[in-house]
Amino acid sequence: MSDIEMKVLVLNCGSSSLKYQMLDMSDESVVAKGQVERIGLDGTKIKHERSSDKAIYANTIDAKDHRECIRLVLDLLISPDYGVLKRLDCIDAIGHRFVNAGEHYSNSVIIDDQVLETLETLTDLAPLHNPASLSGIRACQEMMPGVPMTAVFDTAFHQTMPPESYIYPIPYEYYEKYGIRRYGFHGTSHKYVAQRAASMLKRDLSDLKLLTCHLGNGASICAIRNGKVFDTSMGFTPLAGLAMGTRCGNIDPSIIFYIAEKENLSMEEIDNIMNTKSGILGISGVSSDFRDVEKAAHEDVERAITALRVYVHRVKHYIGAYIALLNGVDAIAFTAGVGENDARMRSIICKNLYNLGIMLDEEKNAVNTSAAIISEEDSRVRILYVPTNEELMIARDTVGLVSFGTDNADMEWQPLSGDD
Ligand code: ADP
Repeated sequence: MSDIEMKVLVLNCGSSSLKYQMLDMSDESVVAKGQVERIGLDGTKIKHERSSDKAIYANTIDAKDHRECIRLVLDLLISPDYGVLKRLDCIDAIGHRFVNAGEHYSNSVIIDDQVLETLETLTDLAPLHNPASLSGIRACQEMMPGVPMTAVFDTAFHQTMPPESYIYPIPYEYYEKYGIRRYGFHGTSHKYVAQRAASMLKRDLSDLKLLTCHLGNGASICAIRNGKVFDTSMGFTPLAGLAMGTRCGNIDPSIIFYIAEKENLSMEEIDNIMNTKSGILGISGVSSDFRDVEKAAHEDVERAITALRVYVHRVKHYIGAYIALLNGVDAIAFTAGVGENDARMRSIICKNLYNLGIMLDEEKNAVNTSAAIISEEDSRVRILYVPTNEELMIARDTVGLVSFGTDNADMEWQPLSGDD
């Protein structure tokens, strides 16, 4: 709880989507939220919800770009039927999610002309996402001039990695010329979960060795030492690391050239296959949704079983590797769609890791609460699951920057009462 009277709008512009939340930071509550999908395509859909009475506005609209969608969202926020604000100038600040800031920012920043100029140079690093975020920033500048805005980067938290974690063993000139290195993603989630895990464990984050496992449709694991990222599984792009819903994660790079030749595919087609047709979808042939694949595995569909085995194998692989890199670990925190909700998956991942001091309490693990410590009392490594909240993290960073000139890295945030 922040004791700060600020209303913060959080905007997350994807390539063809816009997610938003309006937060009242006096109690960190979400007063309205919504999303727009299929922006720029036929049948753009918007769904907006006011929290107080669950009033929902859902419609198919004509919106050609993010700017038009933001206009509509702002109108909804002040509309008598669905709104939560008297006027737009009740918004005290806006926090924008920005996917990849390269090596430019290791913290969230207030957006000024110079920052905007820098962000404009970063399109190459995330060609689908960065331009969408930029157009969101420009639209807000135009529609709400003078309202402070921040950019919160997926990559920023990972900027503490040492060179041995981020340099790839390819000719160094590609790092120097093109910035080809490991950046890591999901940083806002890993940071939030790390802070929350420390608070649940009643420990100081600066005194902990942590693994945070963000297991959603996209998935990454992060090794955090004393509050600083030491290594993470995603890389130059979010394609690296774990097997994911539709992404392949780490593979032998030669496979790309071999398939391209055998199937006569362009690099763009291969890129599409690795991003959207691989992972547990690619292996199972069933779905990218773990619930469907688990159901199929339960019905003895061989490829579904193999897909889940590959998935778990990769997660264990990183857990073991990161424990070696950190020379031990105090806690492992699971989060995101699978990590938060799938007790069976947590159980399978933690199975047979007792030699590393990892012992899951199956009964605690099976109880469905919002967040819990689920290791056995005598487990050397504590195990938790924690719902991630990237929007709240963005809002907290925004409050920190606008009110105190620093993001919340050094601020003590208490968990909401009754939260743990
Ligand atoms: P995204 O990466 O899109 O933000 P999420 O973190 O919301 O994804 O995770 C979505 C994934 O979580 C879905 O693919 C779904 O398979 C999985 N998931 C959600 N709930 C469950 C559940 N109860 N059991 C297993 N998997 C789940």
